[in-house]
Amino acid sequence: MKHHYQTMQAPHLIIIGGGFAGLELIKKLNNKPIKVTVFDKHNYFNFQPLMYQVASGGLGPDAIAYPLRKIISGMPNIAFRMAEVQRVQTERNEVMTSIGTFSYDYLCIATGAQTNFFGNAELEKYSMQLKSIPDALDLRSDILQEFEKALNEPNSQTIERALNFVVVGGGPTGVETAGALAEMKKNVLPADYTELDASKMQVHLVEAAPLVLAAMSEVSSRKAKQFLEDLGVHVQVNTSVQKYDAVTGELFLSNGTVLKTDTVIWSAGVKGKTIDGISADVITRGNRYKVDAYNKIEGLSNVFAIGDIAYMETDGAFPNGHPMVATVAQQQGRLLGKNILNMVSNKPLKPYTYLNLGSMATVGRHKAVLEVFGIKMQGYIAWLGWMFLHLMLLVGFRNRVVVFLNWVWNYVSYQRAIRIITRPFVQKQ
Ligand SMILES: Cc1cc2nc3c(=O)[nH]c(=O)nc-3n(C[C@H](O)[C@H](O)[C@H](O)COP(=O)(O)OP(=O)(O)OC[C@H]3O[C@@H](n4cnc5c(N)ncnc54)[C@H](O)[C@@H]3O)c2cc1C
Repeated sequence: MKHHYQTMQAPHLIIIGGGFAGLELIKKLNNKPIKVTVFDKHNYFNFQPLMYQVASGGLGPDAIAYPLRKIISGMPNIAFRMAEVQRVQTERNEVMTSIGTFSYDYLCIATGAQTNFFGNAELEKYSMQLKSIPDALDLRSDILQEFEKALNEPNSQTIERALNFVVVGGGPTGVETAGALAEMKKNVLPADYTELDASKMQVHLVEAAPLVLAAMSEVSSRKAKQFLEDLGVHVQVNTSVQKYDAVTGELFLSNGTVLKTDTVIWSAGVKGKTIDGISADVITRGNRYKVDAYNKIEGLSNVFAIGDIAYMETDGAFPNGHPMVATVAQQQGRLLGKNILNMVSNKPLKPYTYLNLGSMATVGRHKAVLEVFGIKMQGYIAWLGWMFLHLMLLVGFRNRVVVFLNWVWNYVSYQRAIRIITRPFVQKQ
């Protein structure tokens, strides 16, 4: 039997966010006896793990974004509205959005995370981040603009400042971005900017912890650092960023080093993206909503949070909440889908426990670290595994084909095909 959104008489679920978590929830509720409205301020799903490749010109944005309307087309009980949810009124069961007010029986908040600058206003204003596709396009433009600028700089100090790139944060995003920049130094700069001395470009990675990729095993972390250093990246661990002076371009590090740079790429932390109207009492560590084992927000009977925005302490192995990764978001989305259907039909609910499938990061050509199903690999095989798994995880057949063809092209040509400035980056003043 088909359940039609416009005509069906059924409980109404509003989902805020069509990311990793929201998407799995939607899929679980396809053609089920519940009316679903999905709100997202973008009309696409963003595959964030490959965003650094958009920033470094290896992929175009359309390769990692997928239209949300295409995903829900053919799902008769689900509707999409492109709108920003501005406020939730839990006492009235309503959400206020940029296109009006909507009421719900159940609400699921799947808004993900935003960059955490830990209160450093200067860095928030002047550093580049990698949290959305516009951010990735800004960074791509900025990198290429710095190359163009360096050509016209009058002296070696200003050339160095333009060609010094500092990545802050040695998690997967920081490591992958630093590796991609190092490959641009090796392959793009000498080919496209023959008038520039490519050795002047320097890539720095600054990490406050003693290791990069601290969430992985020590052997993977050490190997990733070695891969980065083999590519010429200056890795500084046990070092944090203290302040940035955008006028002089000086970046002050805790170990006393001062780097001169026009480009600071901030990937040192994220925090939950909360929505006004939910009591501050339930916002906890990492700016996330405290949820019970069924992803229900504490103190609210019909409001749930899943993915990066959810903080759960009930899973024995993760007393300080789950890592903010795509697998957790997807698993919580799928389980909440089942639990909502159980709720509607008065069946018992199942608590969430994280099934950790592993993690991985690539540093560059033939260089990756991979830990899946308890197997640890580094180097060429890990790099092939990394590519295969990312191709499988992408949403949509077209995106897989586009990414695969781009990778083949980049591999044989040693280039980053999409090194174009389509929307110049203008620094906020
Ligand atoms: C650069 C980068 C690389 C990453 N690499 C990896 C990786 O390799 N492996 C891994 O496991 N994880 C990775 N992650 C983390 C992973 O992407 C997140 O854990 C995952 O996206 C969380 O899913 P989510 O559904 O909670 O949030 P998201 O996927 O971020 O989705 C949130 C959605 O909510 C929408 N939204 C937010 N606020 C509003 C609002 N007020 N109104 C309407 N819509 C709203 C957003 O537009 C977005 O579509 C990476 C993250 C980044 C930024």
